Amino acid sequence: MSLIRIFITFIFFIIFGCSEPQENNSGVSYIRAGKLIDVIKEQVLTDQIISVENERIIDVTSFDSTESYGNLIDWSDYTVLPGLIDGHSHLIGDIQSEDVLAPLKVTTEYDYKLGAENAKKTIDAGFTSVIDLGTYRAYVDVKLRNDINAGIVVGPRMYVSGAYITAPGGGGEVVGLDYGVEIPPEFKEGVSANESEVRTNVNKLIDHGVDLIKVIATGAVLTVGTEPGEPEFTEAEIRAAVEEAAKRGRYVTAHAHGAEGIKMAIRAGVRSIQHGSLMDDDAIRMMQENGTWLVADIYNGDYIDEVGTAEGWPEETLRKNRETTDMQRAGFEKAVKAGVHIAFGTDSGVYPHGNNAKQFSYMVRHGLPPMQAIKSATIWSAQSMSLENDIGSLDTGKFADMIAVKGDPLDDITLLENIQAVIKGGQKVFKN
Ligand SMILES: [Zn+2]
Repeated sequence: MSLIRIFITFIFFIIFGCSEPQENNSGVSYIRAGKLIDVIKEQVLTDQIISVENERIIDVTSFDSTESYGNLIDWSDYTVLPGLIDGHSHLIGDIQSEDVLAPLKVTTEYDYKLGAENAKKTIDAGFTSVIDLGTYRAYVDVKLRNDINAGIVVGPRMYVSGAYITAPGGGGEVVGLDYGVEIPPEFKEGVSANESEVRTNVNKLIDHGVDLIKVIATGAVLTVGTEPGEPEFTEAEIRAAVEEAAKRGRYVTAHAHGAEGIKMAIRAGVRSIQHGSLMDDDAIRMMQENGTWLVADIYNGDYIDEVGTAEGWPEETLRKNRETTDMQRAGFEKAVKAGVHIAFGTDSGVYPHGNNAKQFSYMVRHGLPPMQAIKSATIWSAQSMSLENDIGSLDTGKFADMIAVKGDPLDDITLLENIQAVIKGGQKVFKN
């Protein structure tokens, strides 16, 4: 027991006249880590004690065998890492369906319930935070985030974008309807035909409580009738989104596959580029110079090809996927070499939730050393959203979000696909 704690306990007794010291009830709990990956110092520490109070880490020190630790979680057989962060998830809705009208065929309640199930699968996989980048039905993500924060639903911390800021008929709108079929308003919340509508809609989303803005700058792979390479907004329209969001302390991230759309988005001042599939050398140089984060979902192309082919997804979707997958991985390698900021994001929902960690081995295979791959899903993902005071490493002041892994993921990154236990805010949420 530290001198300060003895002193505080002593004062407590004087004030409240308690009969005996009860360290177990002090509200402080402890996690003993056999190994601890310090993602900031890029070191592996051995036999550490993480002290937690009110959901946050209050201290990280070496284990002391002469101390008595009340409320101890013993992870001395494990390597302990900060909770992982997926910088590109879609917990709401079944975006994987081959049916373009699927989002219209289910109720809000169904979307929410499925979202809650996806949230549980995601945190059980070690992802204690997600940056959730859009839902066709607006604001279901806002409600799920609020319910997770209130402790009603078990899931990762969610940072949500509410809906897509997209051009009419663009990659973020439900398209392919028969002539005359009306789309309900909750599916059109972010559809913006010009600069002025972009400004109005960004403010509307922020009024509804979103944490960031997602702009669909180019066509999409999974939206029929749009081409991933083609810009769908002008640079002025993207800049309008960035300006309105900045006024209210929010970042804009851009869904952008094609090189031209990526460059327009960078020039417009977006915080990060999602996908970046067809980036060229110029786009990579611009990202590096501007400090724009690259969030490249380099795993799911294999999943889409395998399952989409087996299930008979539209040929157009499979063609666009093949065209973008190889180019994206090559571009990712170049971006890593060029020193572009890399954040981990998988586009979860395109593949089944809970498999987020499968992307690690792809990142390592394409040039990111294991420690950096882990950083991309922890401290770097946090920094990409300026969340590093709350999440992303196991340091004093941050949320006590952490995972336990058997063995050394720096040796074998695929160990992160099978984690043993999860703690969020100091509370155990999952044990294998
Ligand atoms: Zn996405």
